[in-house]
Amino acid sequence: MNQRLDLEDARAPDSARAGVRSVVPLTAFYAPQQCALHEMGSWHPECPQRLAAIEDQMIASGLASLVVTRECSPASREDLERVHPRAYLDRIFAMAPKAGYVALDADTLMGPGTLEAVRLAAGAAVAATDAVIDGVVRNAFCAIRPPGHHACVERAMGFCVVNNVAVAARHALGARGIERVAIVDFDVHHGNGTEDIFAGDERVLMVSIFQHPFYPYTGIDAPARNMINVPLPAYSDGAAVRSVVEQKWLPALEAFRPQMIFISAGFDAHREDDLGQMRLVEEDYTWLTERILEIAERHAAGRVVSCLEGGYNLSALGRSVVAHVRALAQA
Ligand SMILES: [Zn+2]
Repeated sequence: MNQRLDLEDARAPDSARAGVRSVVPLTAFYAPQQCALHEMGSWHPECPQRLAAIEDQMIASGLASLVVTRECSPASREDLERVHPRAYLDRIFAMAPKAGYVALDADTLMGPGTLEAVRLAAGAAVAATDAVIDGVVRNAFCAIRPPGHHACVERAMGFCVVNNVAVAARHALGARGIERVAIVDFDVHHGNGTEDIFAGDERVLMVSIFQHPFYPYTGIDAPARNMINVPLPAYSDGAAVRSVVEQKWLPALEAFRPQMIFISAGFDAHREDDLGQMRLVEEDYTWLTERILEIAERHAAGRVVSCLEGGYNLSALGRSVVAHVRALAQA
């Protein structure tokens, strides 16, 4: 028997149905190959090599054998339309080029493989949500791109076309009977798209940290009551982040009692990432993940779905994802 099955058996919950062999792995890993088809030119930091770097580090660390890699389908139009209006999706789908690139904004391009990547990225987030709610796995990480948290209701921006975490959260709320979800965003950039989608939606609590002032220059002016935005100055380190998480995020999450937690897992606040100027290291991502898991254990039966956002230094990205997923897998 291999190591993974031993581990899974040892950790199978008591509630596993009698008569069915108790194999309830902790962590699912979604990494649809189609997400590598999206590319915006060799100069662009949001590149397919990001996913290869993650896969390499997952294998080299031995972590790949502790998670269950699962397949998924493209998101349906119904899934996407829970977040984005039909007219916006029609426009994006019609713009997809057969060759070359089409610009959606200054730094967000569509190529021939983009639509398939977009639909698989959101599809992975939806599939992960179903797997976690159904108890097939306890939590899940989606190594997906394009990222999503800058995608607003009707606007692609900041490398993002469809808001993956929002599609998954709306699926949980609209199709799966979950009543309250928390969205935790630790990307170095403010998740303005997620805020645009959920501001004022009392079923959702969003907590975030982000470098400020910095792209996209949002999250400061009178955010809605369900947005706990914590701007931090450039060069903030792990101690600063941990302090504000303890003071601002955790009390709000405890009071909200989410039934499920989604993570916008951007790793561009890492000290080696040149797209931001913050100073987090792998141990900080472990710490953040453990605190999120503690809230999930108390209120959400451990249900966590994490989706990749930013992270552009390939080595730091791979190592940080390993730290994050290892914490998920050892919950
Ligand atoms: Zn970012």
